[in-house]
Amino acid sequence: MMLKNEYDVVIVGAGPGGSITAMHLAKHGLKVALLEKRQEIGTPKRCGEGLPLTATEIIKLGVPDYVIRQPINGAIVYAPSGKEVIVNMGDLAGYVVERKELDKFLAYEAAKAGAYVQAKTEVTDVIIENNYVVGVKAKYQDQEYIIKAKVVIAADGVESTIARKAGLNTTNKLIDIESGFQFEMANVKIRDPKKLELFFGKEIAGRGYLWIFPKGDGVANVGIGTAMTEKSARQLLEEWIESRPDLFSQASIIEVNAGGIPVGGLLDNMVLNGFAVVGDAAHQVNAIHGGGMHEATDAGKLLADVVAKAIENNDVSQEALSLYNKLWWEARGNKLLKVQKLREFFDKLSDDDMNMMAESLSGDDLLKMAKGSKVVGLAKILIKKPKLLLLAKHLI
Ligand SMILES: Cc1cc2nc3c(=O)[nH]c(=O)nc-3n(C[C@H](O)[C@H](O)[C@H](O)COP(=O)(O)OP(=O)(O)OC[C@H]3O[C@@H](n4cnc5c(N)ncnc54)[C@H](O)[C@@H]3O)c2cc1C
Repeated sequence: MMLKNEYDVVIVGAGPGGSITAMHLAKHGLKVALLEKRQEIGTPKRCGEGLPLTATEIIKLGVPDYVIRQPINGAIVYAPSGKEVIVNMGDLAGYVVERKELDKFLAYEAAKAGAYVQAKTEVTDVIIENNYVVGVKAKYQDQEYIIKAKVVIAADGVESTIARKAGLNTTNKLIDIESGFQFEMANVKIRDPKKLELFFGKEIAGRGYLWIFPKGDGVANVGIGTAMTEKSARQLLEEWIESRPDLFSQASIIEVNAGGIPVGGLLDNMVLNGFAVVGDAAHQVNAIHGGGMHEATDAGKLLADVVAKAIENNDVSQEALSLYNKLWWEARGNKLLKVQKLREFFDKLSDDDMNMMAESLSGDDLLKMAKGSKVVGLAKILIKKPKLLLLAKHLI
């Protein structure tokens, strides 16, 4: 095997977070190994495949045509009453991509930059000496490897085990995890091929929402992200599809996807001596829409720069690496925390409250809220509705 027994940095998991971190570290001239337990990077997908243009760490690489399935220019948001709010986002807001291709493309970019990437290689443990993480144990086929590293990075997604093995407690609260379930379907009735469609309502989606993300030619990801419901995400999705013959009577299921989505539990501390965590493994996700590719890759770039500097200075202590905490909280964390608080407010709304909001909010207001910017539209409504004001008092 080409896998060596010593690197500057070992990264666990070749999702978008791991690949972008590996690419930047390799560009800094470091010896990097990016290890992925699955036999094919990106497969199976666990994603609605919505990639916003704001995910600049991915977009600026020049996403190839074969990765892009459908350009998107906005969304249609449906309140429980069926009342719709159209969110127009200019000529181009992003893409629905082929995630299996995107993840591979990002791994190719990491490899091109000089990182060594290896699939079907599961990291089973970390090695700790003198209170420093100094390497990992990994398994490829039936062979065990001991790989030394100055820094180990856990980019192992929502099912992350590596941070805990290193001694960083990343266990999330049940209330801050959503279950995602999705069918990729063909022959779906698509209203506007350039718009994502989002459907809200306690009956149909519990505290979350259902989505149709078009992939062109009547193909779409039809899914749900929800939590704390009596029915499972799969049950809710199947029941909703049954209840909408206008959209799905001719549709077929091409693929079944499931996965957890962290929608809260941002970590104050993401580093230890010789160790850091990034992406879903660090709960770096937008708590309202559940998108994490943008967050994992922005954080990956920040982390790579901090780790490169720490290695150059020969100091990979928790104190040196904690610059990543500071920079990430300044750049993304504080915004994501506001988004989480807004999600907690939305969790408490009844269908009537949501219908009322849909009557009063513009598409622009919704967009600002999802980004964690100033909640102008929401404030307008809250002033008129004292009951909502009470529910939202922690936002103010
Ligand atoms: C149903 C659903 C829909 C979603 N829709 C969207 C969307 O439309 N847009 C969006 O931006 N986000 C979406 N997300 C979230 C998005 O998929 C994640 O936020 C994103 O993949 C996070 O990237 P990551 O690199 O942190 O982790 P991941 O992409 O999860 O990558 C982690 C990798 O680590 C590997 N790994 C785990 N343990 C080990 C180990 N011990 N050794 C080696 N490898 C290991 C895994 O196999 C995996 O490949 C969705 C999620 C779900 C579940």
